[in-house]
Amino acid sequence: MRLAIYPGSFDPVTNGHLDVIKRAAKLFDRVIVAVAHNEQKQGLFSTEERVSLLNATAGQTANVEVMEFNGLLVEFAAAQGACAVIRGLRAISDFEFEFQMALMNRKLDASIETLFLMPKEDYTYLSSRIVKEIARLGGGIESFVPEPVRAALGEKFAAERRISAKV
Ligand code: ADP
Repeated sequence: MRLAIYPGSFDPVTNGHLDVIKRAAKLFDRVIVAVAHNEQKQGLFSTEERVSLLNATAGQTANVEVMEFNGLLVEFAAAQGACAVIRGLRAISDFEFEFQMALMNRKLDASIETLFLMPKEDYTYLSSRIVKEIARLGGGIESFVPEPVRAALGEKFAAERRISAKV
């Protein structure tokens, strides 16, 4: 049983993440999408909301499971019995940070390999941050995120607009 962990913020999950998850699910018997819970880093969506959006999308693939984790990634991966950590590489700009993280994780636990997967070219410019920016400004995001995420972003920003109209 070969298990891989795909960790990230997923705030929220985009079609780029889903592309990477599908590729990983073909290579491994089981994939755990691990949502990092970080008290210091408040996102737009709560950890529960991110997990729920992932369950509604990535979680529909038979060998993909969604979990939340906090603390050291290598410790979580070892506790689950994973042999690999998956990360997505979009462009050279991702490389330096990812390379540093991968080597640090190897120092912490040499038994876990980091594997980089490239998404379909159409998704190389996609990030959660840019999708949130477009949605906040009222732009169309249907080709960047799955439907449950589009709906959730719509609700989030409609709520924000209602609050700022009241202030
Ligand atoms: P983090 O905060 O850990 O970078 P993200 O949710 O932004 O979390 O990303 C998780 C992983 O998915 C990272 O390896 C990131 O490079 C990758 N990723 C994000 N967006 C894309 C995309 N459009 N295509 C491929 N990989 C992506």
